[in-house]
Amino acid sequence: MRIGVINEENESRVAIGPDVAKQFIAANNELLIQSGAGEGAQFSDSVYTDAGAQVLTSREEVLKQAELVVTYQPLDASLWKHLQEQAVMVSMFQTYVDDTIQQQLAKESFTVFSLDMIPRTTLAQAMDVLSSMGSIAGYRAIFEAANHLPRYFPMLSTAAGTVAPAKVLVLGAGVAGLQAIATAKRLGAIVEAFDTRGAAKEEVESLGARFVEVEGAIDDKDAGGYAVDQSAEYKKKQQQMIRDKAAIADVVITTAQVRGPKAPLLIPKETVERMRPGSVIVDLAASTGGNCELTKSDELVKYKGVTIVGNSNLAAKVPLNASQMFGKNVFNFLKPMLKEGVFEPDWENIIVSESCIVKPDMATA
Ligand code: NAD
Repeated sequence: MRIGVINEENESRVAIGPDVAKQFIAANNELLIQSGAGEGAQFSDSVYTDAGAQVLTSREEVLKQAELVVTYQPLDASLWKHLQEQAVMVSMFQTYVDDTIQQQLAKESFTVFSLDMIPRTTLAQAMDVLSSMGSIAGYRAIFEAANHLPRYFPMLSTAAGTVAPAKVLVLGAGVAGLQAIATAKRLGAIVEAFDTRGAAKEEVESLGARFVEVEGAIDDKDAGGYAVDQSAEYKKKQQQMIRDKAAIADVVITTAQVRGPKAPLLIPKETVERMRPGSVIVDLAASTGGNCELTKSDELVKYKGVTIVGNSNLAAKVPLNASQMFGKNVFNFLKPMLKEGVFEPDWENIIVSESCIVKPDMATA
């Protein structure tokens, strides 16, 4: 199979790094890469050439020659005309947020896999791009907060007196939240965390943070690991708890998501108004409306002394590791489908069938 990787616009990451390129090539595939594609992640063209990949100057040429194209961001519709008629596309389409692109793709003859649709099962863990990117984003969120915070994270005893540790509140203790907790703990902060999923308690506590409980959560064990929408009464209790905890926190990291187009609102304006001047909110749910009412996606908002960082794409700020992890996840996903370099997906395998959002014989999978 000829696999194509392009230099994505407004994207620091590259879908396949040189190490993974080597693995694809060793498995009887060819790798075509657009010149400069790895630059943002510090991979030069020559490193790809050394790995056995073919570097092409133009994006159109890569798209024309490739039988399978892997991108981090979905390939813009204006570029589809360059693709082969039966091309395979692999990317993050996030159709549960907006399915317009899926409807458009269903009119074409491509086979399209969306990595965010891979079921979150143990078997699929090595392919889980959402976890890889979530974990990086959670880590990076703490440094965003530290950058804006007018105080230390750790407790320090100095000749000039003792500095109290920062208090960090993490809302949503999934993959990103847990990594934010671990990173804040390493920096010496006092960390509390909250999640509607009961299973999160043990994980939070194992990292040395305190789990804040709100009674009466709806059972989520049949939701494939995802949180479910909660009752109005529960949401009210939860908002009161968050209001009280946020009022004494220096940093609030919000990562709460439910599978769907809109993130839950956890921090209304009134809660921000109670927060201390100088405190910081980093909202990782910014792209789906934000967990904080005042969040603006990809913007920095200052409100009554509180800084609100709205960024759902923090993994892009660690492009080298993000590219390595994304590529490795993609390799693990595609390897069973590329037998001796021939594309032969096993449609009986639920990892394959559930992640395929469009295929030619099934207008919309
Ligand atoms: P996510 O990004 O969908 O959500 C982040 C967190 O926000 C979740 O922990 C969720 O419970 C929480 N949340 C949602 N609504 C909330 C609310 N109103 N208040 C507080 N918290 C709220 O989740 P994720 O981090 O991608 O993980 C989703 C699930 O998948 C988790 O259960 C995780 O353990 C599981 N998982 C499984 C695998 C695997 O086995 N392959 C890999 C990774 C994650």
